[in-house]
Amino acid sequence: MNIEKNKSYANVVPKEHELLCILDGVKFKNAHDRNWHIKRVHGLTYEEYIMQNYFNNQYPICKCGKCNTKMKFIDSPFGIWFADYTKNHFPRKPHTEESKQKMKKTCVETMLREYGVTNSMYIPGVVQKIKDKKELIYGDPNYNNMEKNYETKRKNHNDPNYNNREKAAITNDIRYHSKTFTSTIECKIQVKKHVMIDTVLIVQ
Ligand SMILES: [Zn+2]
Ligand SMILES: [Zn+2]
Repeated sequence: MNIEKNKSYANVVPKEHELLCILDGVKFKNAHDRNWHIKRVHGLTYEEYIMQNYFNNQYPICKCGKCNTKMKFIDSPFGIWFADYTKNHFPRKPHTEESKQKMKKTCVETMLREYGVTNSMYIPGVVQKIKDKKELIYGDPNYNNMEKNYETKRKNHNDPNYNNREKAAITNDIRYHSKTFTSTIECKIQVKKHVMIDTVLIVQ
């Protein structure tokens, strides 16, 4: 097993590391088992493991260059672990309500034109890709963390059925620096490439 150590990695697990422990090369069926091994055998939290092996224990700093804020670790199975900017430090002009609506409309139109659907969940193959990704992360294609969802909703909103738009907005804000996924310029590409991954991450 040839594992390059002390290499400068990007903000994601390299494909060839996805299902192994970089400390001893042990392989796993899914990310859940990997994290369990890291905890049990090496006594590390997932965050500690990623920080030690991929970031040299250096937390990235907000890229605005002014605030010097240490970025907060995002607990995702294969990355992205850090946003580039803290909230509101992304350097761009704020969108007006009108321009947001326009971008959203454009994105929906693109999906409609290219896939004949208005919701990315209906794109052929996406459901299967979500299942594949869940299998990879949790070892169960039908995994749905309902208990945790309900618990969080109860705790935060006193209502297990609260529709958590706020959280989705925050997740999207981190990933795309935009309040809604569909309002970003990357939407068209993301819909094609990453929508299944991010749907899973939001579901978590
Ligand atoms: Zn190990
Ligand atoms: Zn900043």
